[in-house]
Amino acid sequence: MKVIVRDDDIDRRTHVNTLKYIYSKCIKKKIQICFAVVPDKISKKDKSLINFLKKHEVCMHGIKHKRDEKFLEKHMNEFIPALKKMTDIFGNMKTYIPPYAQLSKGGIYILKEGRMNMSFSFYSYYKVYLPLREYYFKNPIYNKSWIFLTDEHLFGYKLSKYKTPNECLKHAKKRYKLMKLLGKPLVIINHNWDFDEDMIDSWNLFVDWMIKQNTEFTTFSKFTT
Ligand SMILES: [Zn+2]
Repeated sequence: MKVIVRDDDIDRRTHVNTLKYIYSKCIKKKIQICFAVVPDKISKKDKSLINFLKKHEVCMHGIKHKRDEKFLEKHMNEFIPALKKMTDIFGNMKTYIPPYAQLSKGGIYILKEGRMNMSFSFYSYYKVYLPLREYYFKNPIYNKSWIFLTDEHLFGYKLSKYKTPNECLKHAKKRYKLMKLLGKPLVIINHNWDFDEDMIDSWNLFVDWMIKQNTEFTTFSKFTT
């Protein structure tokens, strides 16, 4: 069973010690995290954060963190400069994560032409991407770009359906077992800003539990090569 751990909304306000704390168990076990970084909110000057992120996998989290399904289409001319900025800082950039899980068909087309993989939820804030759901169950490769449909938000207070750390843990185990049954990787989306001590405890119990299940932890780019 393959698992990819993603953490979103990384920008210059993210404290590197928060990330180190949430993922201390993962770091100890050499599990790499996929961090979704917002291009317009990071700069080369954020050295300690960048050095930490470079040990993991960095993905592009939009261009700006805008809530607009058609943003990528409308701002196509900003895509290449933003991608270049990200590769200048972090090296190869292969995966795009749309902010608010909003991506129009046109946006998907642009990413596919750029051979970028994408990761977002079919439990989007606004709609369910039914055609993608079809792909998910048949073949995740969409014209040479991989689409990683993510699960519901499993941990956190604001975004997950389950509001206590205990319930989050119970539910996460259920989702893991379901994905295993479907033969699909489980893509976990965390938001570091939505964790507190208790949520981190629950998360660590889940990491321990996943390790016991012989989980193969991977990243988006490792998964596709
Ligand atoms: Zn976001």
